[in-house]
Amino acid sequence: MQKKKYTVVANWKMNPETLSKAQELSKGVEKGLKKNSNTKVILCAPSVFLPILTVKKSKMISWGAQNMHWEKQGPYTGEISSKMVVGSGATYVILGHSERRALSETSDMVNKKILAALKSGLTPIVCIGERERDPQSNYLTTLKQQVIETFQKLPKASLKKIIVTYEPVWAISSHQVRPATPEESTEMVIFIKKILADMYGQQIVAGINFLYGGSVNPEDALSFIVHGNVSGLLVGHASLKAKTFLQIINSMPQN
Ligand code: PEP
Repeated sequence: MQKKKYTVVANWKMNPETLSKAQELSKGVEKGLKKNSNTKVILCAPSVFLPILTVKKSKMISWGAQNMHWEKQGPYTGEISSKMVVGSGATYVILGHSERRALSETSDMVNKKILAALKSGLTPIVCIGERERDPQSNYLTTLKQQVIETFQKLPKASLKKIIVTYEPVWAISSHQVRPATPEESTEMVIFIKKILADMYGQQIVAGINFLYGGSVNPEDALSFIVHGNVSGLLVGHASLKAKTFLQIINSMPQN
């Protein structure tokens, strides 16, 4: 199958409230997708819903979890392993989301999760981004540190299997200070690529898929693709209504 040019990921977070609403939402999305679209659609649902949602196989939709533990099994109450994620029918997993980092998840932990996900054959969708911007631009140093720690010591060949998402926390809808601009996304993706290129080489970085996330909506989705230096989007609140999410997907360039 030909590789899709664009990627749109839904992060449903702790939504919707019930399995039947989740089924309704995914059906609504699937119904509105265009055949032969060049956009890959990944729905990251609450993990308890995944085994049911993934029963009906679809060529149009892939499924992802929103977190996992790096250990294979053991005394980790409330956690799920990569094998459990695979068993649930998901092929992707969001790792290092700022809402997990806010609950004390460190970049070292995210790094271990990336390795475990790759070993299980899952595609990690790894989130990185600064919490705030200070006038002295110290956020660049903090972000650099986050990138180095998150992506340290990974097998070079595995990097092309990772999706890197730049999500400035200050632009995410739940804490929004202001929306980020596509130009800011461009600058920061260049910055992140440079750090990764210093770690792994330019050629390796050229093979990585970069996304932008933070209050994306149907009005600005295309401009992030055209001017934001990314080939896809991670969408939170706007992915919770099939109609709005489809508007975002269908606004991707058709070439
Ligand atoms: C997110 O939290 O990953 C996200 C992109 O959320 P929103 O689109 O609601 O800002």
